[in-house]
Amino acid sequence: MHRFLTLLVVFAITVTGIFAHGDNSHFPKAQDVVVKTSKINGNVYMLQGRGGNVGAVVGPEGILIVDDDYKAVSEKLAAALKELGSEKPRFILNTHWHGDHTEGNQVFGKDSTIVAHINVRKRLIDPPVIFGRKTDPYPAFALPIVTYSESMSIHINGEEVKLVHYPNGHTDGDTVVFFENANVVHFGDTFFFGRFPFVDIDSGGSVQGLINNIGALIQKVPADAKLIPGHGPVATHADLKNYHSIISESSKIVTDAMKAGKSLDEIKKAGLPDKFKEAGSGFIKTDAWIETIHRSYSKK
Ligand SMILES: [Zn+2]
Repeated sequence: MHRFLTLLVVFAITVTGIFAHGDNSHFPKAQDVVVKTSKINGNVYMLQGRGGNVGAVVGPEGILIVDDDYKAVSEKLAAALKELGSEKPRFILNTHWHGDHTEGNQVFGKDSTIVAHINVRKRLIDPPVIFGRKTDPYPAFALPIVTYSESMSIHINGEEVKLVHYPNGHTDGDTVVFFENANVVHFGDTFFFGRFPFVDIDSGGSVQGLINNIGALIQKVPADAKLIPGHGPVATHADLKNYHSIISESSKIVTDAMKAGKSLDEIKKAGLPDKFKEAGSGFIKTDAWIETIHRSYSKK
């Protein structure tokens, strides 16, 4: 999910704890990536390469993209964007700072205006430790030069592209992007389709914050909207509700056990009911998710 994923393989061999639970087997190697373009609604598209899903609104006023994947697939992403009108996006929105959503800034940023929540800029200038490693700061041209704190809109190609900040969930700089006319919403990593999420506590993320944000989004997002998750296929409102149930119910099991005085090891040993088996089959396995919940709710 993040720029350190390749390193994760190396770390997973040598370190224990949460590092051992990452699994990038469903992320193809950069050279094997094929960028798949899907039309979602109107002039809004989704492009899927190796990292986070990329959203795009296209037309005569230029291309605006939401997130820009890993640097290693920028050439392929550019070729796919060219098919939609231009390989040089006019605007890039970053939903949060993680490399699988922003590394392309280091290529596309030379020709684009990058927009993000203020905390994304801060994180890219001074990246926090993530999976035990500090990543390099981004060069100036790859940073968001337009930042906002609560919400803002960009009007392009007849579309209102509205950025709304949700506090301390996946990270502390999360943006959800609403394509108001096309009725499409790009969630960034606020929404991991059907899987336990990565919550980046070291970047200000919070499990309870994420649950609250998704609860608020269930109320806000129109029932017939098409939803682009950070990772996974295009989703529906029902999928978002299901996702909310997965993380809130599993978190309650863990926090109830914490209140009953159980240790982290005891909680992990007890595990989660079978119905969460599939949710724990993605990047974040059940043990890693329990550790994340435990850490997040232990934080003062
Ligand atoms: Zn992320």
